[in-house]
Amino acid sequence: MTENEQFKIQLEVERIREKYSRFSNLSQYEIIMFALSKIDEREATLTDGGWKCPACGVKRKERFSHCVACGQALSRAKVDIKEFAKSISGKEYGFSQFNKGEEQTARENGFVIVYGCSDDLMEFRGAIYDEGGCYGGGKVYFNRDEVCQSNERKNYPNWIKAIWCGGETDEIGQEITWTYETKIPHETFMIYEDREPYCRGIVFSVEDLK
Ligand SMILES: [Zn+2]
Repeated sequence: MTENEQFKIQLEVERIREKYSRFSNLSQYEIIMFALSKIDEREATLTDGGWKCPACGVKRKERFSHCVACGQALSRAKVDIKEFAKSISGKEYGFSQFNKGEEQTARENGFVIVYGCSDDLMEFRGAIYDEGGCYGGGKVYFNRDEVCQSNERKNYPNWIKAIWCGGETDEIGQEITWTYETKIPHETFMIYEDREPYCRGIVFSVEDLK
């Protein structure tokens, strides 16, 4: 390190000590270690109040790459969405359609599972927990929190179109009762009822929503 660099570092350390009282008694080494600790990713934990930063405890509804309060780098979703969709595919129609572990994995990774129920419902599980009506097919509008339950769609910029018996078939040519259409990037999975294809559901990431 040149003398000039050393000098610049000392100036910065002095500036930080003056600006932030919590650093006023820390050595140059301690200040550098603090900065480094912020760029080492840590795991945020999902609590009832949202994603909790392990460094400062602030909770946020969304899973960010950094804590917006203290700057701590936070690790991102670890489960691959393709693998996840594959892992929940092939189930028989039932209540509840997914087990607690599957819904928890979806929540923790910001995934939303969308599938049909009965002849009139579009179910949302995981990072969104809700349902929308789509008797005979039709669009269900939603945002990052909930499904729109009225005709006032201004705050619900995303949609999924449910199609009832639209002629789509599974890999052995059987017609699928419920299928979906949407511009949101997604993966698909199958639900069967008495071995007949009931629904080709979708999984997407909330990060891809408007
Ligand atoms: Zn924080």
